[in-house]
Amino acid sequence: MKFALKCSPGQSIPKKGRKVAIIGAGPAGLGAAGYLICKGYDVEIYDKLPEPGGLTIFGIPAWRLPRDNIRAGIKELAELGVVFHNRIKVVGDLDEHNDGDEFAEKKIKLEDIINSFDATLIATGTWKSRELGVPGDKLRGSYLALDFLYRIYAHENGYLPPEAVYKVGNAVAVIGAGLTAVDAALESQMKGAGDVQVMYRRTINEAPAGKAEINRLIQKGIKFIELTNPVEVIGKETVEALKLIKMKLGKPDKSGRPAPEPVPGSEYVVPINNVISATGELPTPPFKDGYAGIKLRHNNSIDVDAKYRTSRKGVFAAGDVATGPSLIGKALATGIKAAGAMEEYLETGNWSQ
Ligand SMILES: Cc1cc2nc3c(=O)[nH]c(=O)nc-3n(C[C@H](O)[C@H](O)[C@H](O)COP(=O)(O)OP(=O)(O)OC[C@H]3O[C@@H](n4cnc5c(N)ncnc54)[C@H](O)[C@@H]3O)c2cc1C
Repeated sequence: MKFALKCSPGQSIPKKGRKVAIIGAGPAGLGAAGYLICKGYDVEIYDKLPEPGGLTIFGIPAWRLPRDNIRAGIKELAELGVVFHNRIKVVGDLDEHNDGDEFAEKKIKLEDIINSFDATLIATGTWKSRELGVPGDKLRGSYLALDFLYRIYAHENGYLPPEAVYKVGNAVAVIGAGLTAVDAALESQMKGAGDVQVMYRRTINEAPAGKAEINRLIQKGIKFIELTNPVEVIGKETVEALKLIKMKLGKPDKSGRPAPEPVPGSEYVVPINNVISATGELPTPPFKDGYAGIKLRHNNSIDVDAKYRTSRKGVFAAGDVATGPSLIGKALATGIKAAGAMEEYLETGNWSQ
């Protein structure tokens, strides 16, 4: 995947003598880096993982997105002069543990980066899965989808030993119907689970992954159970069963989709060995609302204007940490747009509307 769309290695690019920091080497950060390096800015990218690429290398299966292609684009950025600082977690006033943090060997304060560079872009994505939030969801054998998946891919990439990858039994229930749920179900099947069920509180028509992806699962022998929702994970120390309640569709909710409503008295129990929560990822800015003058929205995403400017002068945010979970193409596009706004700011010094 080409990230430097407007130049190639070997081309002479006049230097601007201005430094830009990017936090997060996913599609948004890489797209911004490609834009800015081609314009002659010095670009340094900080990432907590051992290799750049974000979810494209550590969250998405290689059979869906070949990694060689992403790596070729990153190599080109390095040849153009982008400096990659891997295994560094950038922190603000919040030091909670997110998926992938175990790879970081060093921490750097965000405020120090902001003060050392002429402009900063935050593109830290969504490295936390939403929990099921029902009794028993912390039992052994109950996993969060991104934690489950990134361990598999970090192992494939040679960064984690096989014992760090979570094991699955024969019966696995995956809760959710987005791409993460699809991948968690397929990976469970590939790891030997014989009875994989994807359980969703709405119907296939509302599944965020789309009907085609769900039908592909069904063709592979994975069951898709519509209109059901977990109420309890049952077990002593490890997961033994899942208690669910049947749902029906009501009037459209804020999302515009029909609201799932529980059917009273319809609870039932299915025996399972593992449950995987794939009910969504959450934005992970490494700071609380107001740190370094940067505002967050109620859903923890970074509050940006149409030019991807945060409430702190010289600091921009793009990708899923600003928009909420999206897709590679959208994250890349917001990174490039933010980089255009960074260029405008660096050229004019203008921060007013
Ligand atoms: C399981 C899964 C499957 C998906 N499948 C698809 C798909 O098939 N097609 C598709 O188009 N989209 C898919 N998506 C969505 C897509 O991957 C994302 O929309 C996209 O990667 C977001 O790009 P980003 O740059 O905003 O964030 P990310 O790709 O998440 O990159 C963020 C980077 O920031 C780094 N970081 C985070 N916090 C810090 C910190 N404090 N300090 C330093 N570094 C930090 C992370 O290590 C990471 O490298 C999938 C998402 C998931 C979770």
